[in-house]
Amino acid sequence: MERTLSIVKPDGVKKGLTGEVIGRFERAGLKVIGLKMSCLTKKEAEGFYAVHRERPFFQSLTSFMSSGPVVPMVIEGDGAIKKVRDIMGATNPKDAAPGTIRRDLAASIEENVVHGSDGPDTARFEIGYFFNSLEIKER
Ligand code: UDP
Ligand code: MG
Repeated sequence: MERTLSIVKPDGVKKGLTGEVIGRFERAGLKVIGLKMSCLTKKEAEGFYAVHRERPFFQSLTSFMSSGPVVPMVIEGDGAIKKVRDIMGATNPKDAAPGTIRRDLAASIEENVVHGSDGPDTARFEIGYFFNSLEIKER
């Protein structure tokens, strides 16, 4: 069993896509074992995306991520990290395969509805960024 962090980003929450994103994960057999709504400060968004701090899109990305509520969730399942990434689709919705969240629902490379951890180490860091152990339920 593997765990990963996904986030419905501010654009997804504003467009009423929270249930749609969760539903796509659940229909793929993944389990939601932690879930909340949260508002990131600019500083908190910068901490979350610290690996990207040298990238040209860092300021814009962290402003966007702190522009409204987000819905972070812990997802569990066999191969959950890759499964979530596959369901999300490529970063740029123009490159994302048909039937993926980003191709179907995202507006731009920045406002792309959903986040998913890209590996086991990032998953551990990102889950811990939003959730303590009491907020994650085995089931
Ligand atoms: N992003 C952006 N411009 C880019 C690349 C990325 O605005 O050229 C944003 C986008 O919201 C993306 C996030 O930065 O989801 C993190 O980038 P990453 O390369 O990690 O993409 P992801 O893992 O989310 O597909
Ligand atoms: Mg990434």
